[in-house]
Amino acid sequence: MKKYIINQAIIALGSNIGDSVETLNQALKNISCLPQTKLIQVSSFYETIPIGYTEQPNFINAVCEIETTLEPNELLQQLQHIELKHKRVRNIKNGPRTLDLDIIDFAHQTIDTENLTIPHPRAHERAFVMIPLAEILPHYIFKNNQTAEEWKNQLNQDGVQLLSI
Ligand code: ADP
Ligand code: MG
Repeated sequence: MKKYIINQAIIALGSNIGDSVETLNQALKNISCLPQTKLIQVSSFYETIPIGYTEQPNFINAVCEIETTLEPNELLQQLQHIELKHKRVRNIKNGPRTLDLDIIDFAHQTIDTENLTIPHPRAHERAFVMIPLAEILPHYIFKNNQTAEEWKNQLNQDGVQLLSI
């Protein structure tokens, strides 16, 4: 019989096309309804100046913590299904998107397959991930035995602002 282990996972959400706040709220509702999955906590929403390809609207970003008995690749499939529901079109790298859902970490595992890299290889360089992660889980160990709070403090935080509503 298959053993179901409950694992903690961290998901980053981002959007910069359409009503991004509404999209993130919908996506969080979708995540809370995933099979074998419990939404534990959600960060505040942040408004972020784009990096890389800068000729595009600001992003709304957030991070959430879940507990799940899904396998990592099953979780990725479920998140890609949610992205599709929000009519995500994949085109320019780091370009505009209606919804981006990235698995930042999964039970502190290391996974390196064609479709999935865990921990997310660039998350620790991104203030728009480390700021919301440090908000909900400041002591979370992410890469190199360093906490989310420590990563955050090493990053330039200028482009990331708490969303004022
Ligand atoms: P990005 O998020 O890097 O801007 P995409 O969202 O278009 O780019 O993702 C491209 C591919 O990244 C996906 O098809 C997925 O298979 C792969 N991928 C690898 N690792 C991860 C991860 N940790 N979380 C989400 N997608 C990942
Ligand atoms: Mg992605």
